[in-house]
Amino acid sequence: MNEILGLSAAELAKKIRGKELSSAEVTAAFLDHTTACEPGIHAFVTRLAEDALQQAAVVDGKIKRGESVGALAGVPIAVKDNIMVAGARTTCSSKILENYIAPYDAHIITRLRAADAVFVGKTNLDEFAMGSSTENSAFGVTRNPWNREYIPGGSSGGSAAAVAARMAPLAIGSDTGGSIRQPAACCGVVGFKPTYGRVSRYGLVAFASSLDQIGPFSTTVEDTALLLSAIAGHDAGDSTSVNAPVPDYQAGLSRSIKGLKIGLPKEYFIAGVDREVDTAVKNAIEVFRKLGAEVREISLPHTAYAVAVYYILAPSEASANLARYDGVKYGFRAACDNLLEEYENTRGEGFGGEVKRRIMLGTYALSSGYYDAYYGKAQKVRTLVKQDFDRAFAEVDLIVTPTAPTTAFKIGEKSADPLQMYLSDIFTISCNLAGIPGISMPCGFSGNGLPIGMQMMAAPFAEETILRAGYQYQQQTAWHTKRPPLS
Ligand code: GLN
Repeated sequence: MNEILGLSAAELAKKIRGKELSSAEVTAAFLDHTTACEPGIHAFVTRLAEDALQQAAVVDGKIKRGESVGALAGVPIAVKDNIMVAGARTTCSSKILENYIAPYDAHIITRLRAADAVFVGKTNLDEFAMGSSTENSAFGVTRNPWNREYIPGGSSGGSAAAVAARMAPLAIGSDTGGSIRQPAACCGVVGFKPTYGRVSRYGLVAFASSLDQIGPFSTTVEDTALLLSAIAGHDAGDSTSVNAPVPDYQAGLSRSIKGLKIGLPKEYFIAGVDREVDTAVKNAIEVFRKLGAEVREISLPHTAYAVAVYYILAPSEASANLARYDGVKYGFRAACDNLLEEYENTRGEGFGGEVKRRIMLGTYALSSGYYDAYYGKAQKVRTLVKQDFDRAFAEVDLIVTPTAPTTAFKIGEKSADPLQMYLSDIFTISCNLAGIPGISMPCGFSGNGLPIGMQMMAAPFAEETILRAGYQYQQQTAWHTKRPPLS
């Protein structure tokens, strides 16, 4: 493998700024590698090779002229295809948006442009981010770089696979119930969902607005800190974005975690979790103990309700958000004789099966007569889930769990059984319900060579605690340096 591909984003940025490497050669290395391995993986819906090379040339020009450049100057990045990059297709991996060209940049894209990052492509996802395997894409499944018969996780499977296969050192995903952390676990990379409100969703195609959050993928926690610093912060374009100062996430990484209080929720270490997953996470906890952390058992008693609550609230919000795809305003329009038929045919032909299932579930849960019993009750239980975390964080600084109960499953294994698919998010959903930050990072491999992910969660806006613990862990271990064989 070209040695450029082995460098972290932080190393690449430093070498490009120091003129040891040009962005043009770095970008070309990642693009060429992508051309070679993409056919076997299919991480991208749209590649942006020409634009990327142009952006790289602009950055190289600035550096040559001695102009100041941003923190990600010249570094390639891949973006999930539910986030708008002006002028490029934004399909959400749906037939209904197959030919939709984004008319403006998402806020985070504006920020990344200001940081002088280079956009190499739009990555595959489960249609409208609904799924846990990237099998629900209208444009074909993404394959796990560690074993192509397995799913890469989802819904940000394309972003996770792209980083794992070194098609980009960085990627952006979105996480509504686990869609950054679960694919990160499946693909053996770092994936981080910031606090709700930390990163603007302006220009992210909405799935479930009270849960959606944008976040980074990378191989090192240092790179996650670098990318998070570039995208975090207030934006008037998203009314849920919080107007609070953004710490320098990189600066705090090297501080010791001696005395850090870590909680292990007993509801996450249960029968039903793969033995190998359980062991790998417990080994990681030993590393934290050696670093001086104090570990204790805690309880999050409402954990068992999280999946049920999520599958009322997320489809309810989705049914409202997806009402805009009617064939009139934009996107796909089916042939028809009258307006009602146009709506029906457009939505009937344009949406895939899982999206329709969610719209029906959500419409039902919101319908008069059922609203209080389903949506209203789910909101109340959501509050209880959040209060579990409030109580826990009065006692501990960090909560450590497996990211998912198993490693990646085989393509096709769960696609006929939605409930089994929904259960793969059992450990990631509560974090979204509570609005708190959560990371997944590699902590081992299963006997069949698939990566295992460990999840860490902290109190709202305590991203720094997670990043510091993650960075310290990566200084002691080598899991994050392992790469899949890509011949
Ligand atoms: N897998 C979950 C779902 O299908 C979460 C998806 C997500 O986080 N976008 O809804």
